[in-house]
Amino acid sequence: MTPGDHGFEEIRAGVRELCATFSPEYFRKLDAERRYPDEFVAALTRAGWLAALIPHEFGGSGLGVTEASVIMEEINRAGAHAGDCHGQMYNMGTLLRHGSAEQKQRYLPAIARGELRLQSMGVTEPTAGTDTTAIKTTARREGDRYVVNGQKVWISRVHHSDLMILLARTSPAGAKKSEGLSIFLVDLRQAIGKGLTVRSIDTMVSHDTNELFFDNLEIPAENLIGEEGRGFRYILDGLNAERAIIAAECIGDAYWFLDRVTAYAKQREVFGRPIGRNQGVQFPIAEAFIETEAANLMRYRACQLFDAGKPCGKEANMAKYLAAKASWEAGNACVQFHGGYGFASEYDVERKFRETRLYQVAPISTNLILAYVAEHVLGLPRSF
Ligand SMILES: Cc1cc2nc3c(=O)[nH]c(=O)nc-3n(C[C@H](O)[C@H](O)[C@H](O)COP(=O)(O)OP(=O)(O)OC[C@H]3O[C@@H](n4cnc5c(N)ncnc54)[C@H](O)[C@@H]3O)c2cc1C
Repeated sequence: MTPGDHGFEEIRAGVRELCATFSPEYFRKLDAERRYPDEFVAALTRAGWLAALIPHEFGGSGLGVTEASVIMEEINRAGAHAGDCHGQMYNMGTLLRHGSAEQKQRYLPAIARGELRLQSMGVTEPTAGTDTTAIKTTARREGDRYVVNGQKVWISRVHHSDLMILLARTSPAGAKKSEGLSIFLVDLRQAIGKGLTVRSIDTMVSHDTNELFFDNLEIPAENLIGEEGRGFRYILDGLNAERAIIAAECIGDAYWFLDRVTAYAKQREVFGRPIGRNQGVQFPIAEAFIETEAANLMRYRACQLFDAGKPCGKEANMAKYLAAKASWEAGNACVQFHGGYGFASEYDVERKFRETRLYQVAPISTNLILAYVAEHVLGLPRSF
């Protein structure tokens, strides 16, 4: 085992082996073309890694969020970008916990067989931003269907998913703004062009991120997940899984940066000696390593609590905060000590640096995690 592995050797070896069949040139070319890694995601699907959370009875591997997080960590650790395929992991938590028996039977076996993809989640809106309960997209019940109107922004993987989990307001906000929100399964294959318009947004990292416009989109009423009006609570469950899994992705990035910068600092000689002999070079790398190992412990704690069905909001948020910070510090040291070469695409450092930067902003920004801990863990007055 190398630092940070914490077991799960079989999963790690399987994912590493698959990732090794895709060359660094493959990911570099995709990044330059801002193209989605169709072949890579298809290979992960065929190997069953993206069905890890689906119970055995529906044809999946029946694993927990802990194992799912190890899969995503290994993808990033191998130099790829789990953001292209992590949606199915955290969306699955929402469907498994709150979907009806009929919904699970209808969708899960097909997802496990790789015939359906559940890669998208539509929450963020242009005017609400981080203030999720202020969303304006509505779903109005009309007989046996809901009619959706509104707009979403930054919704990832829409062109590479068959299903999307959508958060919309089904009744006006009352005293509690979190009530009156509901979640739905939208069949994108039926929706696009028939009430749903999708417009791509060019971004710093390849993510297939989009603006969505809903104009009287009709969704069958049976696609409501759980009870009407309780969607915010269901989404929060999914968000905790998402935060723990994304913390693992950051850990994967951090170890990738640490491996690269350590190897480079040992062999790059300037002033007649390896640059890694200088404490000015050693210390930022050592500091990033310490922060990564500590973040990794919190990531496992969050995953284990989630898998045990226990409250894990505190741990999932703290894991995401610590891990995003650690990967950023490791990335910064990696760029810095590669000197000019840190900026050359062929070293892959600048691409990974851009990819890991996203985790400070999405899926939740660092400031909002600090606000959560201040209010919900420390009991300080609500700041917004
Ligand atoms: C590449 C990418 C992919 C994404 N994919 C998805 C997706 O698939 N589905 C989805 O629903 N969303 C997605 N998002 C959206 C993402 O979750 C949001 O961008 C993020 O939550 C921040 O929302 P915002 O961009 O509206 O920022 P804003 O809410 O406008 O905030 C801007 C900044 O101000 C800070 N801020 C705001 N309020 C406060 C406060 N009270 N105190 C302190 N600081 C504050 C925030 O921390 C942030 O840094 C994606 C975003 C990106 C960039």
